[in-house]
Amino acid sequence: MGTRVLIVEDEEPLSLLLRYNLEAEGYDVDTVARGDDAEIRLRELVPDLVLLDWMLPGLSGIELCRRIRSRQETERLPVIMLTARGEETERVRGLATGADDYVVKPFSVPELLARVRALLRRAKPSHVANLLTAGDIELDRETRRVRRSSRELHLGPTEFRLLEFLMQSPGRVFSREQLLDGVWGHDVYIDERTVDVHVGRLRKAINRPRKPDPIRTVRGAGYAFDETFARD
Ligand code: CA
Repeated sequence: MGTRVLIVEDEEPLSLLLRYNLEAEGYDVDTVARGDDAEIRLRELVPDLVLLDWMLPGLSGIELCRRIRSRQETERLPVIMLTARGEETERVRGLATGADDYVVKPFSVPELLARVRALLRRAKPSHVANLLTAGDIELDRETRRVRRSSRELHLGPTEFRLLEFLMQSPGRVFSREQLLDGVWGHDVYIDERTVDVHVGRLRKAINRPRKPDPIRTVRGAGYAFDETFARD
């Protein structure tokens, strides 16, 4: 069984966006749009983490969070609050209610995903692998280091995130648009050719003479991390 994330959010486009991105990272995702429905769902099955909107029909996020903390089964359940209210007093109130973290809308998806990982790591260290490995390539999320054949490679922050994103789903082909969403964030406007530029830089940083190129260009589709590159 994978790591389960429950999204409680009544804005459907946001809920879908979060589901898509979390599933791309390998989480099992469940969504509900109402606070009272979320409470029922939590009685049926306790997930590993909850993304909880503040303003919800049925039962507010604040009240739901309070109830989550007051039940023994969920008192330690990691909760990230999502809210449009960014004022310091509201932030304090959200955390005082028992949320573990707090993200103000509009937020960048990669940032939220990083917070999800960090919180899961704190809650249950086994849930998130810090080290991604494929063939002779090692990517350490904690120290932000990448090695190939035990030699350290120097990647820019964008190339690091791009490699991390591709290595998370070996073999899967991502379009340039999907890479933009996953690596740069959904609300950022960047030309799709930027992806090609960064893939070029990534290749330059990780490839060595006589070593196979792990990044596969799929014509007309996009890019993939080639899970077979190390098998020959
Ligand atoms: Ca809402």
